[in-house]
Amino acid sequence: MLRSSLSSCLRRSVIPILFATSVRSQNFCSSSSQTQIPPPPPPREGAEENHYDSRPTASISIDRSGLYNHPEHSHEPSSDSELVKHLKSIIKFRGGPITVAEYMEEVLTNPTSGFYMNRDVFGAGGDFITSPEVSQMFGEMIGVWTMCLWEQMGQPERVNLIELGPGRGTLMVDLLRGASKFVDFTKSLHIHMVECSPTLRKVQYDNLKCTDEAVNEEDHTKRTISMLSGAPISWHSTLEEVPSGSPTIIIAHEFYDALPVHQFQKAPRGWCEKMVDVEENSSFRFVLSPQPTPATLLYLMKRCKWAGAQEIAKVEHIEVCPQAMDLTHQIAKRVSSDGGGALIIDYGENRIISDSLQAIRKHKFVHILDDPGTADLSAYVDFASVRHSAEEASEDISVYGPMTQSQFLGSLGINFRVEALLQNCTEEQAESLRTGYWRLVGDGEAPFWEGPDEQTPIGMGSRYLAMAIVNKKQGAPIPFQ
Ligand code: SAH
Repeated sequence: MLRSSLSSCLRRSVIPILFATSVRSQNFCSSSSQTQIPPPPPPREGAEENHYDSRPTASISIDRSGLYNHPEHSHEPSSDSELVKHLKSIIKFRGGPITVAEYMEEVLTNPTSGFYMNRDVFGAGGDFITSPEVSQMFGEMIGVWTMCLWEQMGQPERVNLIELGPGRGTLMVDLLRGASKFVDFTKSLHIHMVECSPTLRKVQYDNLKCTDEAVNEEDHTKRTISMLSGAPISWHSTLEEVPSGSPTIIIAHEFYDALPVHQFQKAPRGWCEKMVDVEENSSFRFVLSPQPTPATLLYLMKRCKWAGAQEIAKVEHIEVCPQAMDLTHQIAKRVSSDGGGALIIDYGENRIISDSLQAIRKHKFVHILDDPGTADLSAYVDFASVRHSAEEASEDISVYGPMTQSQFLGSLGINFRVEALLQNCTEEQAESLRTGYWRLVGDGEAPFWEGPDEQTPIGMGSRYLAMAIVNKKQGAPIPFQ
């Protein structure tokens, strides 16, 4: 009771101060950019029945770096990209197809040629657009949520603020700018960015106005500070690498959807796994495993235990994301030992996901197997599985939600924020704010839109969901009470 009234007091005090800040001068972008919301489902991509031998796939361990460096093993036409050659060499040396999850992981995060590794993929000039890039209000509202949780945590003097998959760092920039008047909060922050892409790390460093300062002249140790708030900031490849031991707040926006999924398909012989193989003519194709794979036995069975028989009977396809289960387990353990909480926002559903994997290149949906490494791959997040994974990991945490993004941002006061910003901006900014607001909280096509049809803003308000995992000591976080 006390905690909930504290946080509503804070919300009342945070929002008016925050709203005194102004419109950011960047990131107003074309309303036509594609978000990662999938279009109506395309004709189902059934995998072909198996055309490969049934040697076990997951039990063979392959040194991929070695494979990648041996051009003499490749007899493919030279027009193949490095990543395509690499994928084909794995399939060739494996002596059979690879799982969709392996394919997705290589395509997105292969250290030399993965989709995210070498370029800035966001915004009008990139491949897709995300909520922080749509409007500054998104990061500001996440800032309100973060400050309220910090308040509920008892205003600790030191907090690890961890962002998973920060993209351009725009969410963190808007969060810090919005929170700049709350000095006790900003002084407590130690920011940790979990990012695999060296290119995006550099973009984040620049956008957060970072500078390196010497800690010890003698041994040349340095630390990096974001000049936006004076907070120390560091980069890590995984959540495990972030030091534990301090109260923690974790933000994961559109991170889970990039984690590799296994795809399973119901066949007359039972559940089989969809795999990626190379055809005679050297292009990629889907095939179906002749029998249950190790992933079928391990992950599909685990996921199905959390579902009702009726739910499973209704679907012909199931996607399972073991890395999401693993990550959630780690988050729950950390929140339970260090205190604090995590916020996960992504598009998805609160039940088994059937067949959602999609590819987007230059704001258009393309085939998943087309020119791998040049299009983003992402899949719906199975929030029911996230909840089960967290609850299984620790009894000291509570899971809240999911609720729609529109409810989440609405309850945090985004409508007041947009009104405040509209009072002090140019016509161009006002149009951008209105379309941005619609895209964040609206549902379907914006009714007020008078521009070209193909640029009609599409709302993400009900397709994107928010879920919180918090230490029980904190009580329910806003706005999940
Ligand atoms: N949160 C940002 C970006 C979302 S895109 C936004 O909303 O704009 C996904 C982000 O996660 C990118 O920064 C990508 O480089 C990073 N990423 C994807 N897979 C990753 C992995 N396995 N480990 C670390 N970072 C990853």
